[in-house]
Amino acid sequence: MDLLEYQGKQYFARFGIPVSSGGTADTPFEAVDVADKVGYPVVVKAQVKVGGRGKAGGVKLASDADEVRTVAGQILGLDIKGHVVKRLWVEHASDIVHEYYASFTLDRAEKRHLAMISARGGVDIEQVADEEPDAIVKVLIDPVDGFHLDAAADAVAAAGIDFEARSGAAQILVDLYRCYVEGDADLVEINPLILTTAGKVHALDAKVTLDDNASFRHPEWADFPDVEGLDPREKLARERGLNYIGLDGTVGIIANGAGLAMSTLDVVTQVGGAAANFLDIGGGASADVMAAALEVINTDEKVRAILVNIFGGITRCDEVARGIVEALARVELRSPIVLRLDGTNAEEGRAILAEHLSGRLRSEPTMLEAARRAVELAGREAR
Ligand code: GDP
Ligand code: MN
Repeated sequence: MDLLEYQGKQYFARFGIPVSSGGTADTPFEAVDVADKVGYPVVVKAQVKVGGRGKAGGVKLASDADEVRTVAGQILGLDIKGHVVKRLWVEHASDIVHEYYASFTLDRAEKRHLAMISARGGVDIEQVADEEPDAIVKVLIDPVDGFHLDAAADAVAAAGIDFEARSGAAQILVDLYRCYVEGDADLVEINPLILTTAGKVHALDAKVTLDDNASFRHPEWADFPDVEGLDPREKLARERGLNYIGLDGTVGIIANGAGLAMSTLDVVTQVGGAAANFLDIGGGASADVMAAALEVINTDEKVRAILVNIFGGITRCDEVARGIVEALARVELRSPIVLRLDGTNAEEGRAILAEHLSGRLRSEPTMLEAARRAVELAGREAR
């Protein structure tokens, strides 16, 4: 789960990371109210789960109530890369001397945590990585050893952070690491981390991705309101109890088992296609589950073909086949289905489907052939 900036800052504050005082506002009136409380000048910031708000006009300074009302009105309702602004964060403006960058995430290839620190903050970090890779200091951290003040001080010095900001920045790195580990985040990022004219170092922005698999030990996460709302496809899938993740491709995927679903994504990519989703219908897929799965995929307008990949184990292919026939009677599909049925009772399953096969429902003997066919159909249906 991605947090909005203000939720990320609330999370930071729990671990002692300094942030500016501020408040949320859903109307220009509320924005003025917050600004009056925190003191002028203020910065008014769009709360959307996407970066580059500054460049898109979603971050504006205001020096009095009239200006706050005006800029709040401009930012609310703004569409930033497909995210419509419904909420603002208004905080006391900082006087910036310098902008830095700091983050922690997992380096899966190295099997270590990765700290990244740079004196080139405030700008797109991917751009810095491309143009000046040496400007980003990377530190791999063994989770057993942890990340302590001496290592943080070394990293901050190596990154060329200004001398007067070093001790503050090092302490923030240590606290940010605690936030990342104890706070069960997949990513914590501060861009920019700033040095103020008053000589203080603090977080001016916050990007936090929480690890959903750890939510069982964080009942307090339920208090983060979902201001933006889920991807509509994921919302529908959740209502139907499906294990679904939306992606950007054109081939809708249904498989039984998470491993098989991931392999199916890989094979679709291997034959030149792109998956529209991950969807694991689990074991013992009933007609209800199959219908729900097809219904969710059917709402995805990018889908041009659906690949159903079932390997029967405990799940019997004849039941899956009955499920598909029933589902087809219930859901009117926009895209053709390519089916691969194998494993327990595959013959019986294929026999059930035989009379229903057409240009809209095809069967292929292997996963690879089914993926090729689905990708080909998706290409043909594309407009
Ligand atoms: P992003 O564009 O979505 O990453 O939003 P940020 O929160 O990082 O803000 C973008 C930029 O706005 C920052 O890099 C700063 O240059 C500027 N900015 C944000 N808050 C303040 C502030 O309190 N004072 C000043 N002077 N500039 C700010
Ligand atoms: Mn930023």
